[in-house]
Amino acid sequence: MAALLAGALRPGALALLVIVSGFLPGPPLRAEPSAGDVIDDCQYPTDAAAAAAWQPMAGTAKAQIATLADHKALRLSCNFSSARIERASWDRQVKLDLAANRGVQFKVLCRDPSPVSYFSIYFQSGEGWYQAAFFPESAAGWNTISIDKTEMTPEGNPGGWSQIQTIRISAWRGNDVSTEFYLSDLRKTDPLRPASPRELAEAAILGIGQITSFETYQDATNQIASLKGQNPRVAKALASTAAARELAVKLAAEQKFPEATKQATAAREQLLTAFCLAQKPLPGEFRAFWCHSAFGVQGLDWDEAIRRLADNGFNAILPNMLWGGAAFYESKVLPVASQVASRGDQIRQCLAACRKYGVQMHVWKVDWNLGSAAPKYFVEKMRQMGRLQVSSQGKEEPWLCPSDPENQQLEIAAMVEVVRNYDVDGIHFDYIRYPDNDHCFCAGCKQRFQRVSGVTVTNWPEQVRADGPLRQQWLDWRRGNITTVVKSASEQARAINPKIKLSAAVFPNWAVDRDGVGQDWKLWCDKGYLDFVCPMDYTPSNNRFERLITQQLDWAGRTPCYPGIGVSASSSHLGVDRVIDQINLARRHQTHGFVIFNYGVKESNDLLPLLGMGITAKDLNAPRP
Ligand SMILES: [Zn+2]
Repeated sequence: MAALLAGALRPGALALLVIVSGFLPGPPLRAEPSAGDVIDDCQYPTDAAAAAAWQPMAGTAKAQIATLADHKALRLSCNFSSARIERASWDRQVKLDLAANRGVQFKVLCRDPSPVSYFSIYFQSGEGWYQAAFFPESAAGWNTISIDKTEMTPEGNPGGWSQIQTIRISAWRGNDVSTEFYLSDLRKTDPLRPASPRELAEAAILGIGQITSFETYQDATNQIASLKGQNPRVAKALASTAAARELAVKLAAEQKFPEATKQATAAREQLLTAFCLAQKPLPGEFRAFWCHSAFGVQGLDWDEAIRRLADNGFNAILPNMLWGGAAFYESKVLPVASQVASRGDQIRQCLAACRKYGVQMHVWKVDWNLGSAAPKYFVEKMRQMGRLQVSSQGKEEPWLCPSDPENQQLEIAAMVEVVRNYDVDGIHFDYIRYPDNDHCFCAGCKQRFQRVSGVTVTNWPEQVRADGPLRQQWLDWRRGNITTVVKSASEQARAINPKIKLSAAVFPNWAVDRDGVGQDWKLWCDKGYLDFVCPMDYTPSNNRFERLITQQLDWAGRTPCYPGIGVSASSSHLGVDRVIDQINLARRHQTHGFVIFNYGVKESNDLLPLLGMGITAKDLNAPRP
């Protein structure tokens, strides 16, 4: 049943809270919401009362009460060092109507959030849930977390905001260290009212300096001026900013609010340009984009798309050319996507452009997931052969089952065919994992696991899911099914082309994801199956980004680790200032490269030129390879 399952799964992409903005963002679009009715003030008289109201999930410690500087709160312990739990989680039964509200707000204090990969809040309604992730940025004091309904992702079939039955708070295990956090003052937030022209103008003027972590205009101009080095264009952009800002202030004083807003927006764009111009490139780093479409950037041919990358100092592209059930080139292994007939072989076209402009091409494969371009007959054939994945509840997914030897061979052969037929620089695994912790429980998996383990599973699948001796064996076997493909594809590809580079896009938190989705990427690095690894660190939080890469560099060891920056991922949309922040963090930790998701129209038109002005500026003296 969906309602039971949902909220039990790790979200595939971390739906962290973001302030959505363009690459040249205007003034902040969202004001802080105002606090409304109390849902739970978290002021319980006794531990027993707190524990009764907030029911722990199996394996989670009971909620307790605590008083911090005269402030009563719930104390929620995360026993990650002793209990083998994927998360610490508590449910509060409610009768809650958020239909007329903007969302919720609450206070969180966590003095050591480092063992937590992220926190989630869920609202159960009908046969589904609404979900959002959050992270307290400050460990020093209370963080007020505001979550808008528009930022929440549905799971299953939630029955609307008017009939919420459960609130769930989860802290997802990041590593095996226990911690605790405090919760208080859970409230509804009031709906937005439209802002007046005066308020819009005032907000726009205040917002001029608010790029990256600068708080005021003065702070921003001082810091950018100190960065500028020898670039006279920075000084010019700062002068234009000052002129536009002055005009905005004057227009506002004359009550010409729409004109003032326009000038303030222009001032902010100039300041952002100055910030971009003041950045410096670091020679020798791997600078790449993932490109989700096999046809590149909409409206551009591959030649133009790659030329723009090269002109702005990028030296690699990872285009998605094959899935579990479709190829966007002439393949004899996978079904060829129908568009190839009219638009031609996409690997060939992209590769020609890459060679022309000196850009590396690493062909990206989505593993297991058949993809929307997979022909119907092929999906049907896989279903009839029992080769698709099945959840613990018996629901079939259009993903190939990783324990099926025929599926493993198909994955490997498809990758190897690319290496054999095209002189590409690399091949790149993605979705090289299970969809979640609830797969795969198909009949073939049961049979194959029994054969390998030598155990007859009498209670399927509960016996391999329960925390017993079979559990560990099951998880090892499950990981092994994925690793087999990485190992064999790597060996066979290198036998054909010893210079080929193997790489993978991976979930950020190996320690948890090796069990959750069977993705053992630290092992792939240790064994040398990969030449580089790209954790998908898609987050609007610089703190979280830095925490992730610090840990990942340790896991990757001697294998280069190029963090993925989520510019237009479902979980994070970043303005150019945040992209620059994260590139600078990657440099501070000496990753020697990064990969941005995703190369699309906006990135090509707006983001690339801003990066190319400074942080990825092409070295004009460098010889073209
Ligand atoms: Zn299976």
